[in-house]
Amino acid sequence: MSTSDFTKINSTVDFFETQFQINNSQVFLSELEGKDLQLFIKREDLIHPFVSGNKFRKLKYNLQEATRQQKKTLLTFGGAFSNHILATAVAGKLQGFSTIGIIRGEELGIDLDKTLAGNATLRNAVAHGMKFEFISREQYRNKTSVNFLKILEEKYGDFYCIPEGGTNELAVKGCEEILTTEDNEFDYICSCVGTGGTLAGIINSAQKDQKVLGFPALKGDFLTKEIQQYTDSQQNWGLVTDYHFGGYGKYTEELIHFINRFKNETDIPLDPIYTGKMMFGILDRIQKNKFPKGSKLLIIHTGGLQGIDGFNHRLKGKQKDLKIV
Ligand SMILES: *Cc1c(COP(=O)(O)O)cnc(C)c1O
Repeated sequence: MSTSDFTKINSTVDFFETQFQINNSQVFLSELEGKDLQLFIKREDLIHPFVSGNKFRKLKYNLQEATRQQKKTLLTFGGAFSNHILATAVAGKLQGFSTIGIIRGEELGIDLDKTLAGNATLRNAVAHGMKFEFISREQYRNKTSVNFLKILEEKYGDFYCIPEGGTNELAVKGCEEILTTEDNEFDYICSCVGTGGTLAGIINSAQKDQKVLGFPALKGDFLTKEIQQYTDSQQNWGLVTDYHFGGYGKYTEELIHFINRFKNETDIPLDPIYTGKMMFGILDRIQKNKFPKGSKLLIIHTGGLQGIDGFNHRLKGKQKDLKIV
């Protein structure tokens, strides 16, 4: 289904009121042969091509709150390939908000046409009405300072501000809706981690006897604290920190080949920034017998597939025959 079909269908109903029925699909892979394990994927990526997976969950209550506060404009922050930037642009358009994206990298604004030609994420955001402000890396580091926010308010007027990556309490509340009572049968719930908001929501809604495993897509030991801030004193979760592949946005050839093989064997696409790394990690741990026999695993596909285009564009400049298919 193309995005325009989707927009049409949803123009009659409130997109964020839609109760998506996402069935868990079982995965069969060569790695699982002879292992007494069952793997299921929750295809949150199917919610919407651009407002996909956890970004739908994270925006839901924030947009409700913006409406309640009678705001007309959403403003948020992100990098040039950010799933969150595009999701905010599209969700804003669907719900009747203007949107402003504060983007890291002032050089991108010098020749906007050229930037857009090589960047599907920003191109699609513009196509959905988002306005950009490109700022230097230094300004970006100080983006939440009172001073900078004041400058933005002088320029853009009153807006509802959504943090980078979309994580705040309302985002976590939305992510508490990813798991349903039907998922109680699983022993392990696995999800990717960027800021940790999604994992916090999953932890809050998981059963006490379930284990929640987060796979960070970046280096950093600040994440545990971040997640604790949004959860109670649950102990049934942990971070698996061995599968960031060098850091945020970094990759190896092995990762790309894995993503392609996974798609080939299961028909399920993975993105290279988050879900590909997590799935690689899960299967590596299965190989190493880290899960007890008989375990049932539920893996959350948090989406992010819109980023594949931009990633392939980046690869083309570096390694000609490497591509996510
Ligand atoms: C943004 C994103 C994440 C990270 O979510 P956090 O709540 O920031 O941890 C994970 N997966 C995908 C596909 C994303 O787009």
